[in-house]
Amino acid sequence: MSEKPVAAKAEKLTAVKGMNDILPPDSARWEWLEDKVRSLMGLYAYRNIRTPIVESTALFVRGTGETTDIVEKEMYSFEDKLNGEPLTLRPENTPGVVRAAIEHNLTYDGGKRLYYMGPMFRHERPQRGRYRQFYQLGAEALGFAGPEVDVELMLLVHQLFANLGLRNVRVELNSLGVSAERQAHRAALITYFSQHLEQLDAEAQRRLHSNPLRILDTKNPAMQALVQGAPQLLNYLGDASLKHFDTVKTLLTACGVNWTVNPRLVRGLDYYSHTVFEFITDELGAQGALCGGGRYDGLFELLGGRPTPAVGWGMGLERVLELIKEQGRVEAAPTPDVYAVIPDASALPITLQTLQILRAAGVKVQMHAGLADSPGSMKSQFKKADGSGANYALIFGKDELTQNAVTVKALRDGIGAQSSRSLADIAAWAPTLQSRT
Ligand code: AMP
Repeated sequence: MSEKPVAAKAEKLTAVKGMNDILPPDSARWEWLEDKVRSLMGLYAYRNIRTPIVESTALFVRGTGETTDIVEKEMYSFEDKLNGEPLTLRPENTPGVVRAAIEHNLTYDGGKRLYYMGPMFRHERPQRGRYRQFYQLGAEALGFAGPEVDVELMLLVHQLFANLGLRNVRVELNSLGVSAERQAHRAALITYFSQHLEQLDAEAQRRLHSNPLRILDTKNPAMQALVQGAPQLLNYLGDASLKHFDTVKTLLTACGVNWTVNPRLVRGLDYYSHTVFEFITDELGAQGALCGGGRYDGLFELLGGRPTPAVGWGMGLERVLELIKEQGRVEAAPTPDVYAVIPDASALPITLQTLQILRAAGVKVQMHAGLADSPGSMKSQFKKADGSGANYALIFGKDELTQNAVTVKALRDGIGAQSSRSLADIAAWAPTLQSRT
């Protein structure tokens, strides 16, 4: 007797490490946050831009910078199977926005204020607040050179955090001046670190000539004293750069934003200039950077465009939501207004039609499902109605429907109260089912 082969049970597939599903009810918190963002962006006259998730690898090598951690070790890069083109999942969106601005000549008639929200990808070690797919909100002001736009962008972040009810977020500022000032500072840094070669770790030695500014970023405790004593870029700024920085500081103060200068806040890439800033919390451990940004007046040229001043920031939305949770704010999960109880499948046509009318009137409706194959007993339907969080059950009973009416039963306020409502004047009573919140 030949044995029947036992079908192997299919292996369960899981999400990629560091890439998370966002499920209900948590997804409602995301939608709440996104709504807050959209309405605030409207108030500041920033308009939405959506660029592709996949771009040419060259865009990030040039636009993010060859010597950054991101490009050196964190990008998800691959070759297009058909034509071998080197492609990358975007690790950040600023290069994509600038590429699009150049490609479509967006700034031909003046500056543009743009914002985006979407997933970014970095191959980092996953931990709380650090993921391999994460969501960034970003704002970019293209074509504006003045310090007031740097401030506008920071006010946008400040106001968003206030609207979200966040507390204890501090703002750190620095200025990177302009290219010639950075060159002078860079030369001074190389001289200084070269005099203390024996104190540099391997990474710092590697960066000494490629990107000495990044050495200031080191987390190595053994190098902190050395870094503290290093020449500060602020001492190399000329009058124009100092004036730009002073205006930023004065305007922030005038608008009630507290700030501190952190001379070690740097972006080790040559297209950055003038203002850099970070919004930081101490309540999320090591992943306390909520938002980072700055001026990048050199990036357009680097990507083949005309010289165009620009400034922007990127914010990690997981971290923002984690901080909201940490600070004890709990968003109510959305619930339907009405749960439709359907005792008999024969009532389905009139039920579905009626529910469409209610939804058109703005009533949030959840229909009992699964009726055709296993008619739920009334008891279990009411249990589900209760569990749904709805304020009312609408009962589509056979007898009542023959009178062109349904029963409305209160599930919360005045619990248990029932009344019969005629479907003929549904438009008149539908709004009474809407929750007031
Ligand atoms: P950056 O583009 O590196 O300046 O990052 C901007 C913001 O994105 C940071 O301040 C974080 O809030 C967030 N962020 C960066 N990398 C990650 C990550 N791997 N996971 C979660 N959030 C991140």
